[in-house]
Amino acid sequence: MQIIDGKHVAATFKMQMQQEVAQMSVKPCLVAILVGNDGASETYVGHKEKMCAEIGFESRVDRLSAQTTETELLDHIKMLNNDERVHGFIVQMPLPNHIDEQKVIEAIDPRKDVDGFHPVNVGRMVIGLPSYVSATPKGICDLLKFYNIETSGKNCVVIGRSNIVGRPMSNLLSDKEFNCTVTVAHSRTQNLKEVCAGADIIVAALGKAEFVTADMVKPGAVVIDVGITRIKSDKTKNGWKLVGDVKYDEVAPKCSFITPVPGGVGPMTIISLMRNTIMAANNEIYK
Ligand code: NAP
Repeated sequence: MQIIDGKHVAATFKMQMQQEVAQMSVKPCLVAILVGNDGASETYVGHKEKMCAEIGFESRVDRLSAQTTETELLDHIKMLNNDERVHGFIVQMPLPNHIDEQKVIEAIDPRKDVDGFHPVNVGRMVIGLPSYVSATPKGICDLLKFYNIETSGKNCVVIGRSNIVGRPMSNLLSDKEFNCTVTVAHSRTQNLKEVCAGADIIVAALGKAEFVTADMVKPGAVVIDVGITRIKSDKTKNGWKLVGDVKYDEVAPKCSFITPVPGGVGPMTIISLMRNTIMAANNEIYK
């Protein structure tokens, strides 16, 4: 069994990007819009800002109050769409309830949509055209490639069909680059245990702590654990620990490759966002 070391891969990619950016005449510029004061969103945006500085990007956070109206946010997006100095921007989700997230996503110029959530980017990805790909699935693809994991002709089960993880992941794995035969499982899937037990590759992205158990996993399978859930623990100082969607201790011994939580998929997500921003600064997708 080999542990897929997302921290190591992320550090390698980060170093490559630092070198690349140092050679660029115009530094990539990423803006994050943060509406309201959600604690987790503050943390995520803080990490992104720090990573931008470390890689050598220009970046800033546009903080808007929780009372910002949908129209005001859409106007702000318009302003960023038209600002030539900004190569890419993201709107940190979730947004306050009075704002329609889909409307917001569709207001972003696809050329600056480095989160890859705009239907134009999603559609281009589905038909195999160059596009900005959502950061978590993109990071998982990079992990599979980095470890030279054989995917062609393999049976892959993706558990979860969200727009940001499961759905794009299943599309990418069925594409000619990976050539997997993909099954997408969700909350209405029947006999999930049997479905998973036939898989060569399992991508668990359902957000249910330690859901995938050893009896669901075929010996020698590759297991990619996307889930992140904070659970109580009497073994840590702060009384909490992070776990994935996979019961790691019992599943890992059966696998050929597995991602741990934390330190697997997580570190790659932010790296993929940074890569998308460099692509935006270089006009690599929309020439
Ligand atoms: P989500 O939007 O809640 O989607 C969960 C998906 O799992 C849904 O499609 C749901 O099915 C399916 N599901 C729920 N319970 C199920 C069950 N018992 N059996 C089979 N399928 C089930 O979640 P998400 O945003 O994709 O995130 C999933 C997990 O990944 C979360 O733990 C999240 O924190 C984590 N995550 C991690 C990263 C990272 O960087 N590592 C990034 C993003 C997300 P239905 O469609 O039928 O409801």
